[in-house]
Amino acid sequence: MADLFEKCAQWKQVQLIKLAGHYPYFRVIEQHDGTEVVIGGKRLIMACSNNYLGLAQDPRVREAAAQAARDWGSSTCGSRLANGTLALHDELDQKLAAFLGKEAAATFSTGFTTNLGTISALVERHDLVYADRQVHGSIVEGIHACYGEAKRFRHNNMEDLERHLVAAPREAGKLIVVDGVYSAEGDLADLPRIVELKKKHGARLMVDEAHGLGVMGRNGRGTGEHFGVHEDVDLIMSTFSKSLASIGGVIAGRADVINWVKHKARSMIFQASMVPSAAAGALKALEIIQQEPERRERLWDISERVHRELRLMGFDTRPSVTPVVPIAVGDQALNFIFWRKLTDAGLFVSPFTKPAVERDCVRAVFMATHTDEQVERALEIFQRCGREVGIIPYERPHTRV
Ligand code: PMP
Repeated sequence: MADLFEKCAQWKQVQLIKLAGHYPYFRVIEQHDGTEVVIGGKRLIMACSNNYLGLAQDPRVREAAAQAARDWGSSTCGSRLANGTLALHDELDQKLAAFLGKEAAATFSTGFTTNLGTISALVERHDLVYADRQVHGSIVEGIHACYGEAKRFRHNNMEDLERHLVAAPREAGKLIVVDGVYSAEGDLADLPRIVELKKKHGARLMVDEAHGLGVMGRNGRGTGEHFGVHEDVDLIMSTFSKSLASIGGVIAGRADVINWVKHKARSMIFQASMVPSAAAGALKALEIIQQEPERRERLWDISERVHRELRLMGFDTRPSVTPVVPIAVGDQALNFIFWRKLTDAGLFVSPFTKPAVERDCVRAVFMATHTDEQVERALEIFQRCGREVGIIPYERPHTRV
């Protein structure tokens, strides 16, 4: 008789990578100061956190989270539908709806379950959902959990999206789902064209602004605001685990649609709500994002400098146009070797491999709170290690600008 666990005993891939000393996952962080961490007693510059605005270590956010734990306890011990909607959750729903310029918003316990719950609640039998092939895994899970039919279109390929839309029966409800900023390679969805297509074909549009909120647009409302098509995005989804320095997720849109999602999404009904400290931390971070636009400006100054200098050194950081910086290596083994060298030199970054990205790369993200000295040191490490492994040439003059 077959044993379900047999495959686990046979699976040697991870042990082999560990033996080679190139295992990059589940690293235990012993100390965290936001821009620097300690691992194995050694300090590293944190250069791949989604804490874009550095608010996870901000004293005001820490204090709001701590105070909420003191005032409300450590957990709600129940779902939002039942006993887990505190005044904090209600305030967060309302403030996020106002910030995102939508009639209503509903917060979930994680970004992952926001996508999962929203898509599976909205896309019913006979409906169609169209998702870019590079969308986040939580959107993929939402698609798997829904009863409608899924079409995946080639990454940012509008002809392919239209080809699928044209083929749909007229009476089918249609939802297009994209990431505003693609999390692995930092490129943007072509929202102006997607909006045109959704209007032409009578579809609805949902944009995951996990990496856009707090980062993109004049007020940090996301990629929709950046492109000036904010009003045409029917559903804005975001997580709290990035600029909002917490954990949780939100879906914002028309009041009747949010009401439907609140009552139909299984991850809303059957999942305990955000712990009070997480809700209060996100509320404080939202307030700071609106009051301190200079954080976003600093983030963009740093990331533009990093892109510019890495390219001058000879690295390829395409297709990114955002603070997510993928440094293309191409070869998988070389990518792990490059990552290992960067780690040994004092940089915390992550190796990304296919199918998450089109070309194997090391992914770096800088934060508004990195100092100029940290950025300088990180760039020097990239240059030295890139030369050592042969990704960039030695002889290329690197002129700082
Ligand atoms: N969407 C995107 C685009 C993401 O990058 C992530 C997290 N990496 C999520 C959704 C899920 O959010 P969370 O981890 O906060 O649950």
